[in-house]
Amino acid sequence: METLKDKIRNIENFPKQGIVFKDITTLLEDGECFQKAVDMLSYRYINQKIDKIVGIEARGFVIGAALAYKLCKGVVLVRKKGKLPHKTIQTSYELEYGNDILEVHIDAIKPNERVLIVDDLLATGGTVKAVVNLVEKLNGDLVECCFLCELNFLKGREKLDGYNVFSLLKF
Ligand code: AMP
Repeated sequence: METLKDKIRNIENFPKQGIVFKDITTLLEDGECFQKAVDMLSYRYINQKIDKIVGIEARGFVIGAALAYKLCKGVVLVRKKGKLPHKTIQTSYELEYGNDILEVHIDAIKPNERVLIVDDLLATGGTVKAVVNLVEKLNGDLVECCFLCELNFLKGREKLDGYNVFSLLKF
């Protein structure tokens, strides 16, 4: 597990002063490590009933799509406002300064479909909470929120109280 953690690069003061950005591109660029990370996630879900894997733009698409392929599940894209071509539903979420909007196609999740949400990283939990909101608006049945890594000190899990949360690597 240390090798996977060591593959994630710290970028100081990105995107702004005081933030240490966990750059997962260095892990993704190593084929064996990328495969190992996706395989480890897939072992957790292989025997669970899941219909759709929801990936969050943009790094969540990489992990989510690889996991969906491995588990032979459909993949659903949650994108920033204005990117999806068909009719969408929206939710707004708070950023450090101001708000942003995430969207999903209105027919991407059918009522009672079992949904796994995937992103690269859990920080404060605001982003994933907005995606949980979208899944619930479409009456999806949320199985778990799954992350490649989690920044424990930001306590994102507390925002997801009552939901299942899993992260492969913790910092
Ligand atoms: P949050 O809503 O605070 O949980 O932030 C999660 C989203 O922002 C994820 O999609 C991450 O890709 C990104 N993110 C937030 N903080 C960091 C960080 N320190 N390093 C890398 N990505 C981050």
